[in-house]
Amino acid sequence: MEGSVQLDDNALLVLRERYLIRDEAGTLLETPEELFRRVACSVSQGENNDPEGRSAEMEEAFYEMMTSLEFLPNSPTLMNAGRPLGQLAACFVLPVEDSLDSIFDSVKLTAKIHQTGGGTGFSFSRLRPKNDVVKSTMGVASGPVSFIRVFNCATEAIKQGGTRRGANMGILRIDHPDIMEFVAIKRDPAELTNFNLSVAITDEFMRSYEENRDVALINPRTKKAAGKVNARELLRFIAEAAWASGEPGVIFLDAINRANPTPHVGEIEATNPCGEQPLLPYESCCLGSINLSRIVRNGGIDWQRLQKLTHLGVRFLDDVVEVSTYPSEEIRAMTSGNRKIGLGVMGFAHLLIRLGIPYDSPDAERTGGEIIRLIERESKIASNRLAEKRGPFPNFKGSVWDRKNLLQRNATTTTIAPTGTLSILAGTSSGVEPIYDIRYKRILPGGIEVEVEDPLWRKAKDRPDADELRRRLFRKAYEVSPFAHLNIQRTFQSSVDNAVSKTVNLPETATADDILDIYVAAYRMGLKGTTVFRNKSRGYQILSCGTHQ
Ligand code: ADP
Repeated sequence: MEGSVQLDDNALLVLRERYLIRDEAGTLLETPEELFRRVACSVSQGENNDPEGRSAEMEEAFYEMMTSLEFLPNSPTLMNAGRPLGQLAACFVLPVEDSLDSIFDSVKLTAKIHQTGGGTGFSFSRLRPKNDVVKSTMGVASGPVSFIRVFNCATEAIKQGGTRRGANMGILRIDHPDIMEFVAIKRDPAELTNFNLSVAITDEFMRSYEENRDVALINPRTKKAAGKVNARELLRFIAEAAWASGEPGVIFLDAINRANPTPHVGEIEATNPCGEQPLLPYESCCLGSINLSRIVRNGGIDWQRLQKLTHLGVRFLDDVVEVSTYPSEEIRAMTSGNRKIGLGVMGFAHLLIRLGIPYDSPDAERTGGEIIRLIERESKIASNRLAEKRGPFPNFKGSVWDRKNLLQRNATTTTIAPTGTLSILAGTSSGVEPIYDIRYKRILPGGIEVEVEDPLWRKAKDRPDADELRRRLFRKAYEVSPFAHLNIQRTFQSSVDNAVSKTVNLPETATADDILDIYVAAYRMGLKGTTVFRNKSRGYQILSCGTHQ
């Protein structure tokens, strides 16, 4: 019997519901400790291709950092390592070209990816607009939105049998002729329920916005202008939709491509479902998160342990790229060409509470900055050491790392994931978000609704100074000002290769103009995108009179 891992009730519920192996009769066949052993054993096989690999030693180190809840890999790794599916990555981007073959090939691949618990992102920007010509049939095209519905229906159909309900990201460039329909579609809560949508905004668009000019809408098939729209009206239309329903989000395409480490391999057009991982078409990526709440020692940060966990995390994720199976040959080729990995953090808000630092304070930014700079620096050192033993990623030549003369095993090393499920397993706050509330209802993966009381609040609430602590340290997401949210996002984005999963929570009383201000600020800060969510906005049915259509 192995030493037992300290899991709270919700963590145990999630593990039993979705992660632990069962037989056909539904009887559990493994304990949580056996799950972590299975993962450690399977992932450490990635050491076998390295002449200096140390699979037995690494298995123990991997096992230890998972059972101590100091590091957890993304859900598909926990579910599938050492099991028949063997697919370990959470993030995928698939191409959608302007042909039926391409669209339906991607639908099929999407189904296979969702079956393994991975999420998929797509750019629909290459599809010809609604009512454009279809030569082969002399008919008219139905446009990107109608094809997004096809992916949505496929996701709906397979989600019952899969390990978790599928998640998708649909992206459309802001200069696509169907942009208005795309922006407004999710005001209807019955539409595209398995999709997050994001508008891909360019620098050129933002210039037009600043100068209050019109922008041309371009038909991607003919590359010719198919209409125009005033940039300020269009961005306001997006802000109004986000005000009403939390959708769409926006991504800043040029900022993303300025950070593309392999421009010689291709241009980035899309991200994974929650936006933190920009990827090339057919590329996938595995994420892993260090639990910051567990690195507090004697009221301070244990920097040595953080450094150690960063090195172990990089090694773990590089081994994952090695042992994972891939849903298609194209995905295997693209993923092993770049060997991107995404090491990040969870439990940032809990770390701050433990250190007595309010989330919306300069101290929080300073602490976050120190942490993420250490992780970024040490992850590059770790990737460099692996490159010296195992070789650099195959697309290294011509990459930004080649130009910087820094040998790397992985085209990227860092990403801040939402850690929706991982943070429940680890019993901590998610990603770099503030605590949602001291007490709230949560629907766990598997559909069970539970009451959650923040574990740190549970300990603090009987103290004589509880009220003051509540106001100062346990500030909930809606009490943190939008700009404090953005400042934390910027702090982490400044030292992360990929992107940061972050929601700017707004009070119910916020206006569309507040959201516009956030877009402009996020763009000026050099962020890669932003998602806003106004309290209680989902569930409202806002009637749209479509003044811009
Ligand atoms: P987890 O905590 O389960 O590891 P995260 O909440 O950190 O996952 O999300 C990381 C990424 O995993 C997402 O951006 C997305 O690519 C993928 N993902 C998350 N939830 C789902 C889901 N229900 N179905 C498919 N993929 C998902």
